[in-house]
Amino acid sequence: MESVIHSELGNNKLNYDLIHQLGENFGSSYYLLNVNKLRENYQKIEKAFKSRYANFIIGYSYKTNYLPYLCKELSKIGAYAEVVSRLEYDLAIKIGENPKRIIFNGPLKSKEDIYYALNNESLINIDSMYEVDFVKEYALNNQNKEIKIGLRVNFDISLGGVSTLQEGYEISRFGICVENGNFNAILKELLSVKNIKIIGLHGHFSTRNRSLQTYEFITQTLCNLAKESLLETLEYIDIGGGIYGELPDLFNIAAPTFDQYAETICKVMNREFRHFSKKPNLILEPGISMVANTFIFIAKVIEVKKVRNKNFVLVDGSVHNVKPTMHKNNLPMRVVRKSKKIIENEDFHIVGYTCMEKDYLAHNVCDFLPERDDYIIFENVGAYTIVFNPPFIKERPGIVAMDNDIFCSVRKKETLRQFFNEEIYCF
Ligand SMILES: *Cc1c(COP(=O)(O)O)cnc(C)c1O
Repeated sequence: MESVIHSELGNNKLNYDLIHQLGENFGSSYYLLNVNKLRENYQKIEKAFKSRYANFIIGYSYKTNYLPYLCKELSKIGAYAEVVSRLEYDLAIKIGENPKRIIFNGPLKSKEDIYYALNNESLINIDSMYEVDFVKEYALNNQNKEIKIGLRVNFDISLGGVSTLQEGYEISRFGICVENGNFNAILKELLSVKNIKIIGLHGHFSTRNRSLQTYEFITQTLCNLAKESLLETLEYIDIGGGIYGELPDLFNIAAPTFDQYAETICKVMNREFRHFSKKPNLILEPGISMVANTFIFIAKVIEVKKVRNKNFVLVDGSVHNVKPTMHKNNLPMRVVRKSKKIIENEDFHIVGYTCMEKDYLAHNVCDFLPERDDYIIFENVGAYTIVFNPPFIKERPGIVAMDNDIFCSVRKKETLRQFFNEEIYCF
């Protein structure tokens, strides 16, 4: 088994022979990471914002896809690591990230986590009151050190009385509430310790429509709060992630472009800080928009069977591999056929290897009916897939990275011994 394959073929030229050869080497179903596309996304986002507001930082949201190889590639080209747990924090350290370039967010941080991150001088955004106690205690124990801290704030972002949050939640559960006075109380409490400095505000919201209007409002509110409360010490405004990337047409959403987001957000920043000699950094924490379109999942057709009048195409993959949330929309996909025979289009479902009735990778597809040993490519599967893949019934598939004409394994297919790790299971 080779771990690196050189191919004459460049991007988007995945033909049957190459896909089959990769399958023989890396397992009959596998993910393919397009490293060139990843760099392109990074550069597009960076260019859109930096050309409008120079002090711009990208903190890549690890939880969206923390494949170590991918995180490292992004780090190499300049991304900070945005992490929401100690596990992700330690992964960032493990791939060699400079701790000063780690942004530590998330609702759960132990005292030890906070001490560790403060020792490392990472950027920490406090989410709740309990963290304040740890920070104060650390500051009192380290009196000759200046402790810098950021606050994640929570304010109402509804538009015209209508919630814009995902799933229609009225209120977000994250961050420190401005309206009820908690934000001011925490400011006062932290600033009562002389070596604590509050240097940034963070406002990540998961909204349904990810609209420009919402981002304008979030940026404006963060700027107002920062100018009212932390003027002297302000080093960053962090507007979180959640922006759309370049979505395939199929989703039928008029997603704003990177340039439109940048124009809206940077306009507020430039206006609010135009008289500042030292302008604060603007931090964006993209997840989906950075990685969704960098992954495809390739599954081999094992069988095509007819039940009454319906065609079921069984593949060596599962809905868990392509859309763990099991939504009903078909992803953009294509069939890579072994045979070149011309045949008529037919309707079929694509179903997976698990024993659940609902394991559909796609519903009611109308295309050439696949045959055994064909492959099906599912696109746009880079975000919230491999991080959510339960090892259910079958080992997790491998991941292959494609960088120009080189293909190499960046996660091997799991084996029984790794699945049932003897260090943690008792036999
Ligand atoms: C999830 C998350 C992100 C990334 O969100 P996307 O919708 O994937 O862009 C950024 N920041 C924080 C704090 C998050 O929790």
